[in-house]
Amino acid sequence: MMRYGSIINGQERNENNRETLAVHNPYNQDKVGELALATRTDLEEAVNNSFETFHSTMKFMPAHKRSDILRRTADLLTERAEEFAETIVQEAGKPIKYSRDEINRSIQVLRFASELAKNITGEVLPMDAAIGGESRMGFVKRIPLGVVGAITPFNFPLNLSLHKLAPAIAAGNTIVFKPAEKTPISAYKLVKLFQEAGLPDGVLNLLMGTGEEVGEPLVTHEKVHKITFTGSLPVGRKIRESAGFKKVTLELGSNSPNILFEDAHIESAVKELVKGAFAFSGQVCISAQRVYVHKSIYEPFLSEYIKQTSALKIGDPKEEDTEIGPMITEKEAKRAKQWIDDAVEKGAKIETGGERNGTVLAPTIMTNVDRNMKIIAEEVFAPIVSVIPFESEEEVIGYANDSIYGLQAGVFTRDIDRAMRVADQLEMGGVWINEISTYRQDNHPYGGVKQSGIGKEGIKYAIEDMTEMKFIGIKLTTNHERDASFG
Ligand code: NAP
Repeated sequence: MMRYGSIINGQERNENNRETLAVHNPYNQDKVGELALATRTDLEEAVNNSFETFHSTMKFMPAHKRSDILRRTADLLTERAEEFAETIVQEAGKPIKYSRDEINRSIQVLRFASELAKNITGEVLPMDAAIGGESRMGFVKRIPLGVVGAITPFNFPLNLSLHKLAPAIAAGNTIVFKPAEKTPISAYKLVKLFQEAGLPDGVLNLLMGTGEEVGEPLVTHEKVHKITFTGSLPVGRKIRESAGFKKVTLELGSNSPNILFEDAHIESAVKELVKGAFAFSGQVCISAQRVYVHKSIYEPFLSEYIKQTSALKIGDPKEEDTEIGPMITEKEAKRAKQWIDDAVEKGAKIETGGERNGTVLAPTIMTNVDRNMKIIAEEVFAPIVSVIPFESEEEVIGYANDSIYGLQAGVFTRDIDRAMRVADQLEMGGVWINEISTYRQDNHPYGGVKQSGIGKEGIKYAIEDMTEMKFIGIKLTTNHERDASFG
């Protein structure tokens, strides 16, 4: 049984007298590892070390070197892709085929970051645009912030961590990284991979611990310059309130809508929405939760959707053909089942699914739903989707926007005018046309409006948020006389 400790300045903190926390496989509850928990003293040392490493090392590291380290990490991850995929199966219960997808995306994130590290540019300003500015030159550089605190969730333990670590390194920051306590093993292995790729000690410090013990003091620490957080709305709100003057990026939840107009390609929409609602048991922030279908195609859509959903293979996430594995904990599976039961009490109908067995909740399609049910109003974060008929474009835009969230939406139509009209009116961080809300490509700007978050990720955009502008002006003394002549 492996014990995983925090890593501070390259050294693992894994003494025998530390408090521990077990990591379980969510499918069979096997113990797959143990955490040697970080203390407040570790946190203090990690932040101080990151702060010192920024000033002694990282801010002087040339872009080509940062780029090389990121590229080497991508190469190492490519070599060990299968080992990392198996780790995610074990700690998160993510079916192997989706775990492999996550690794492939993570490799791409590292490669994008490696390329972008060499392309962080500023601008030259037309100083003579201002009266009296004729003899001046001005330019803007983008400089790193210092220490970035990165706090990550369980559902994409590798890729969402890399969406923070890779741009932070590309931009020249140091990092204190707190992964989710339920999925810390991939995080530990990732930090080791960075070490092997040549990242100097202290640039990436890892803290193993809970949100309360380690996350909260990280957020309030005065030597941390930015918090980048992906997780739930209640925790995001708390972070926003306690972060003080720090920059904050919050990537939070949603109850993503998908809209099928009467001219939608039903066959491909059904196929994609099965994946969109049920991949990783719906524990995806942009999972398709509300599917609005024009009444003229509602019946054929629903019957095909039920047919394909009930054929999904439920089972052990390590099996090649498993589509639906466990949820992260039994508590979460019970919570989701409770939301189904509440909706049924209020008049909703279960079209397929609805049964729970331990941590596994069967993929569930609901109809007859309304906005007073949690499965519509809140983020369900479980394999539950609701199908709702509509009649007009105006009506469905109202339904889709009737939410505290606004992360990503899918719109299915072959009418380009309508697609653009609807996309413009949806209150979302992103809209896909003829694609599910659940699709994310790692190089587009990604992040929500309303209570889905603040700021954007997507490497290039995260780098912008992890640097700041510094203006440098020069007064050219030789041009004084010419200045005077222009008054
Ligand atoms: P979570 O419970 O909010 O936890 C996320 C991270 O925050 C964990 O590392 C957690 O630590 C830590 N944390 C908890 N309390 C904290 C506090 N008071 N201060 C600082 N950190 C604290 O979320 P989750 O259950 O892991 O993930 C699911 C949520 O993430 C969903 O709402 C989902 O929509 C959202 N999500 C959003 C995106 C996006 O890009 N918008 C992507 C993926 C997921 P411990 O768990 O270790 O205690």
